[in-house]
Amino acid sequence: QSDTFPNGSKRKTLVILGSGWGSVSLLKNLDTTLYNVVVVSPRNYFLFTPLLPSTPVGTIELKSIVEPVRTIARRSHGEVHYYEAEAYDVDPENKTIKVKSSAKNNDYDLDLKYDYLVVGVGAQPNTFGTPGVYEYSSFLKEISDAQEIRLKIMSSIEKAASLSPKDPERARLLSFVVVGGGPTGVEFAAELRDYVDQDLRKWMPELSKEIKVTLVEALPNILNMFDKYLVDYAQDLFKEEKIDLRLKTMVKKVDATTITAKTGDGDIENIPYGVLVWATGNAPREVSKNLMTKLEEQDSRRGLLIDNKLQLLGAKGSIFAIGDCTFHPGLFPTAQVAHQEGEYLAQYFKKAYKIDQLNWKMTHAKDDSEVARLKNQIVKTQSQIEDFKYNHKGALAYIGSDKAIADLAVGEAKYRLAGSFTFLFWKSAYLAMCLSFRNRVLVAMDWAKVYFLGRDSSI
Ligand code: FAD
Ligand code: NAD
Repeated sequence: QSDTFPNGSKRKTLVILGSGWGSVSLLKNLDTTLYNVVVVSPRNYFLFTPLLPSTPVGTIELKSIVEPVRTIARRSHGEVHYYEAEAYDVDPENKTIKVKSSAKNNDYDLDLKYDYLVVGVGAQPNTFGTPGVYEYSSFLKEISDAQEIRLKIMSSIEKAASLSPKDPERARLLSFVVVGGGPTGVEFAAELRDYVDQDLRKWMPELSKEIKVTLVEALPNILNMFDKYLVDYAQDLFKEEKIDLRLKTMVKKVDATTITAKTGDGDIENIPYGVLVWATGNAPREVSKNLMTKLEEQDSRRGLLIDNKLQLLGAKGSIFAIGDCTFHPGLFPTAQVAHQEGEYLAQYFKKAYKIDQLNWKMTHAKDDSEVARLKNQIVKTQSQIEDFKYNHKGALAYIGSDKAIADLAVGEAKYRLAGSFTFLFWKSAYLAMCLSFRNRVLVAMDWAKVYFLGRDSSI
């Protein structure tokens, strides 16, 4: 794709950081013939996060929920350059970014120039500075996290099996603790309990009875973004399923074998664990923090501040930010928000191209009347760019034993659904949301495989 259009105007460079929900939604909807499109992301695939909690126990295979960036790029009409690299420094003044690749046999460091930059780098796990979390726990955000958790579960079970039932070390190894009662922690605890009750029970009936799943949450309830009725439903089910819910319990410290928490009564409690999964929400990534230091208007530590057109405050219309890396009232860090923001920006860049073309024509206008006519068209096109409006369709969560909850919004109406029928709805909604036909088929096959053959218990 050449650097100029047939009329001689310059094709502007649009750099997109990230290959997650926001960036991929933008890429899929963007007219890539209008820009030099450059994608930079250390992850060369899109990850369908809603089914990630199903992967460590083998309900869903990891390969079923990823889609390569190259495949997505190939489907667009224009050319897309992809760098498997990480952006680490943005210079809004000179419109350049520094990127580095640390891939094996392909490490490089380079500067990229942009006319427009879209930051969709997501967030990193938040530990709130709790000592020991990085050293001893696993997060659940990436493919590598799911693989690590699976390995820890399997080796804990095997180690415990070699010890006598009376050995306290065996009880510790079979204590699986999840910290954070948001949807990530809840869905993973539910999947873990399913695995133990539906599959492990068949192969290791005695040992499986000794496995304890504990969910620790600092607040008085889990799933705080859901309706109270659904929260109660989920908490009651957890009690039935024997997931030990420790509410109003804030983890203060973690060491190699035990977590130390403070309860609502102010007591200190020690909970021994064999496997620990930490899911206490999001914190800004280093590259987002770097950008915050460059712009005076960026005075929030919770994320990049944007206006209603998703433009980064202080960046004079050349930088946009979407998804989990941003902080904006009413926009939660969810896939749904990031996806809609990506769609919005694709439309925005269509209009931006039109305005850039009109500006170019204005600099080549023959007379004043043509300048005035083009100016009018620019004002009209600018006024056609509406603010981003988030359309909340609701929230879904899997809560175990083939049951799910759904807090749905259809126009002004709200619906609260819970139970086995909702689980079928949950499955069909996620199948519909899968990025490609290939993903859809693989996920459906994984579910069918588990239904007929059970989960795989090998590593
Ligand atoms: P991400 O999807 O996280 O993508 C960020 C991208 O940026 C990645 O490709 C990453 O590799 C890349 N990147 C990172 N650093 C750099 C860098 N320095 N330079 C360039 N690229 C970089 N939301 C829902 O709405 N429904 C759900 O059911 C749901 N389930 C979830 C389950 C789990 C286990 C998790 C962890 C999250 C879930 N979410 C869900 C939240 C949802 O995944 C996020 O809100 C969504 O991924 C945000 O999209 P994003 O594009 O901002 O970031
Ligand atoms: P979250 O922020 O939603 O929940 C984290 C929980 O951890 C909070 O309830 C918090 O009180 C608790 N916590 C924090 N520190 C603690 C401590 N020291 N001890 C005990 N508890 C502590 O985080 P998440 O579940 O990772 O979700 C992140 C985002 O992704 C959210 O916006 C969520 O809506 C979205 N998400 C959505 C779904 C879904 O819709 N099914 C699934 C997963 C994630």
